[in-house]
Amino acid sequence: MAPHHVNQEQPPMNQLFVTDIIHFLDDNGAIASTLPPPAMIMATSLSNIIAQVTSQLNPQTTVNCWGQVNDLPCKGLIEAGVDIDTLEIIWACPICHDHGVIRQWQYTFFDCFEQWALDDEDTLPVLS
Ligand SMILES: [Zn+2]
Repeated sequence: MAPHHVNQEQPPMNQLFVTDIIHFLDDNGAIASTLPPPAMIMATSLSNIIAQVTSQLNPQTTVNCWGQVNDLPCKGLIEAGVDIDTLEIIWACPICHDHGVIRQWQYTFFDCFEQWALDDEDTLPVLS
């Protein structure tokens, strides 16, 4: 008997980005000027996410999504937080559902945690 065909509901079209931010940085810790434009846009956006997540409690950032919806720039604003277990920064776009994790952001230029109590986990912004 043929297996019953299950009409699987596909999740929304979206991409998962796993990025080690240091791969975008030069020897001085700045965003590498040699990056091609798409990578430059992503690196700039990711660094802004890091800076905002580590300097505010609110998971809502002012970082514009760099994805596209129907071939037009996505109008979403990235939401982000810190995974308390892994200390990876998790981000997601509420409009196009692109999402990802950022690793190795600690101690970069964009890490603002040192300005406030890192040992108080209750103060970490967490994306629910
Ligand atoms: Zn988006």
